[in-house]
Amino acid sequence: MNHFNQIAEVLESQNLDAMLLTQEANRFYASGFHSSGTDGVALVTKTKNYYFTDSRYTEAAARHIQNAVISEAKPGRGYVTLINEALAKQGAKRGGFEDAYMTVADYELYRKNLRCELVPATELLLELRKVKDAEEQETMIAAQRIAERALGDILKEIRPGVTEKEIAARLQYLMLHYGAENMSFDPIVVSGPNGSLPHGVPSEKAIQSGEFVTMDFGCIYHGYCSDMTRTVAVGSVTDEMRRVYETVLVAQKAGIAAAAAGVTGKAVDGAARKVIEDAGYGDYFGHSFGHGVGVEIHESPNASPRNETPLPAGAVISAEPGIYLPGKLGVRIEDVLFLKDCGCTDITLAPKNLMIL
Ligand code: ZN
Ligand code: ZN
Repeated sequence: MNHFNQIAEVLESQNLDAMLLTQEANRFYASGFHSSGTDGVALVTKTKNYYFTDSRYTEAAARHIQNAVISEAKPGRGYVTLINEALAKQGAKRGGFEDAYMTVADYELYRKNLRCELVPATELLLELRKVKDAEEQETMIAAQRIAERALGDILKEIRPGVTEKEIAARLQYLMLHYGAENMSFDPIVVSGPNGSLPHGVPSEKAIQSGEFVTMDFGCIYHGYCSDMTRTVAVGSVTDEMRRVYETVLVAQKAGIAAAAAGVTGKAVDGAARKVIEDAGYGDYFGHSFGHGVGVEIHESPNASPRNETPLPAGAVISAEPGIYLPGKLGVRIEDVLFLKDCGCTDITLAPKNLMIL
């Protein structure tokens, strides 16, 4: 899978002759090939695509990348030379670059040495990546299924005495075991009073009876991320725990019911937020309803109070409201949604009614 063509097709509308891609996620999106960190440059022009890398990746790049000329950077014949040769061949005068990601040092290097005008164009890639094609969606479903299998196993292991760290370690092992390439992010496992930390770090605290355990995790499969959160109770729940849980669940369902192409991120967020506010917990839901997911765990578009742009069909967003009572407890439930012209598809199949283990 690669997206050279999609990028090439939008160059004209941005008055660009070429797009220079150095950020890892964008390079992967364009080429379908992962090489770590800053090692590699993809160059998309209207008629030809190029991928420049060094000897550590040349063979792998040649195996994975289709529809691109692959060249190896060597001492004395570095990226600048290779890019300049390609620009000259294509007669490219205006090259877009990732102003949101390129370091100042790299920018200065390219600005001084490339034979083209450099035009800020991060948005071009972010806009394209917002909309997932059928192959991307299939890959994301596969990534989601791996996370769900791991969840199914871990639910049998959660009991008083097991620590947050142990659960986090097992989740990572299980996802890798079921085929994940990596984690989308370090799993969040928080229990009892730690649950009020939305992005708490798993600790050596042991789970106790009468507590919630919140697990937020996901994996990368064929370069695409999954993301899910489940909160389960151990032993028993108080009336308050039940009330908070049910409020979050109803809020999540309200957000999901509102989610569709053409609706603003703000409206989707607002549908869920209203449920939480009406239940009196408005002050305890600080983050937004959801974020885009794809090659990166957080990408455009957001379902947040600040996003007044209509969400496009094909966007993939998380649905993750939460209530966090400081020092006491927290609940978050998170699914991933594919947005369609009429509504959305919730690709997360794991059950989410209150579970007491
Ligand atoms: Zn998450
Ligand atoms: Zn998320």
